[in-house]
Formats: sequence, structure tokens, C-alpha cells
Amino acid sequence: MKRVLVTGSGRGIGKAIALQLAKDGFAIAVHCRSDRSSAEAVVAEIQALGCHASLLQFDVADRAAARAALEQDIASHGAYYGAVCNAGITRDGAFPALTEDDWDSVIHTNLDGFYNVLQPLVMPMIQLRSGGRIVTIASVSGIAGNRGQVNYSASKAGLIGATKALALELAKRKITVNCVAPGLIDTDMLQDVAQEELLKMIPLRRAGSAAEVAATVAFLCSEPAAYITRQVISVNGGLV
Ligand code: NDP
Repeated sequence: MKRVLVTGSGRGIGKAIALQLAKDGFAIAVHCRSDRSSAEAVVAEIQALGCHASLLQFDVADRAAARAALEQDIASHGAYYGAVCNAGITRDGAFPALTEDDWDSVIHTNLDGFYNVLQPLVMPMIQLRSGGRIVTIASVSGIAGNRGQVNYSASKAGLIGATKALALELAKRKITVNCVAPGLIDTDMLQDVAQEELLKMIPLRRAGSAAEVAATVAFLCSEPAAYITRQVISVNGGLV
């Protein structure tokens, strides 16, 4: 059975991706940082569907912890066929007020997380010789920039660059690497965002759902998407 890791899949977009990929026949490694009980509930939900799920817990910003957890997991259960780098945070604020911690925590989680998770995972994936799928979750902010999100926009723009470069490196191994860039999606992350003004800017006049993002990720992980790599697919209601 093909294993796929979905980081930050205890809730929100990651949870929807994990559930969709499980329904599509992948064995899922559900992953969390702090909220273990929510991640355990996702594992139980997947298992109740008759699908296979396991649980991994580590901070994607902690390089040593990520490597240790992933190497141990791969030694026990074998290499991953796919990975979805979804875990991410915001620490918004106007640039003059942005603290060092606001900057560092967002870059360490959203951008360093790409290296910390994928670096231990890619060589075993290559050695599996089965091709593979990597999807990163960026944001409309990484494409267009967003006021109050200089740190977040930088991290997501960096993630897009890293995704495209890795796609070039892994193409000869039949491993596709793509990015999904959501717009305004109805999850916990939106709780602190003033939505009214933003909604007026969205041609489809509504926030998207986590399931709508998951459907795009699932397609990119599917067999028919084998000829799509190095792309950024927006799921944003026409926002950009
Ligand atoms: P949520 O805040 O609902 O969930 C974030 C998830 O990421 C949680 O499962 C959390 O785990 C995990 N996570 C956060 N930091 C870390 C860390 N350091 N190490 C490990 N796991 C971590 O966010 P969304 O579901 O809304 O967002 C998912 C992704 O989509 C993010 O990358 C976000 O930037 C992106 N996105 C979201 C948009 C939106 O409108 N919602 C728009 C555009 C992009 P735990 O609960 O255990 O802490």
C-alpha cells in the first residue's frame, strides 16, 4: 500500500486532505505538533472507513526532531510514496510592528519545514523506485503578497520556489512536485482574519472549504496527474 504523509493533519485543510487521500486508497501518516487528541481522532476516522492510518508527532520547525521521527518511522514502516507539506502558521502584523519572533517562527515553520520534512524522506522515496507525489500548500499571499503578512508571504513565496526547484531534481525519478495555493479557506486559521473586506475581493464571493483544497491535492496525488509537475495550482475563488 502506498504511504503518504500529511503534515498538520489533525484539523483544517490537512485533515480534509488526509481523509480524501485515505478514501483514494493511500495509507496515511496523520501528523500533528501539539494537538495529539485531534490527530488521534483523525486516525480513528480513517480506520473507521476501513483505511490504514498511523500517527506521527513532531514540530516541523525542529530539524532534529523531524529527522529523528521520520527516520525511525521509515525504518519501521518503509519509505513514503508521497508527502503533503501542509503544516503552517500565521503571525500577522504591520511590518513596522513585526517582532523577531513573528518573523522567525513563520519562516521556521512554513519554509524550513519544507527542508526538515522532505530532506529525510526524499532519498528513501527515490530508492523505492515507484515514482511519487509531493504537494506543498502555499498561499495566495506567496503569489501576490498580502499586507500585514510580510513574513507569511515571504515564507510561502519561498515554498513555491523550493517546490519548483525540487520538481526539476526529482522529475527523472517520476516523482512529481507541485504546489497548491489556497485563497481564503474556512478553517481555524481564519478566526483572526477580518473577512468582510476580503470576501468583497473574491469573485466567487465566499470562502473556500478545506474539502475543495483537498480535492485538488488528491488529484495531484492520483495516477492521472502523472504528467503534472512544477506547477502552482490556485484554489482561491478567482482572487488572483
Ligand atoms: P490550521 O491552523 O487550521 O491548522 C494548522 C495545522 O498545522 C495544525 O494541524 C497544526 O498542528 C499544524 N502545525 C502548525 N505549526 C506546526 C509545526 N510547527 N509543526 C507541526 N505541525 C504544525 O490551518 P489551515 O488548515 O487553515 O492551514 C493549512 C495550510 O494551508 C497552512 O500551510 C496554511 O498556511 C495554508 N493556507 C491556509 C489558508 C486559509 O485560509 N485557511 C489560506 C492559504 C493557505 P497542531 O494542531 O498539532 O498544532
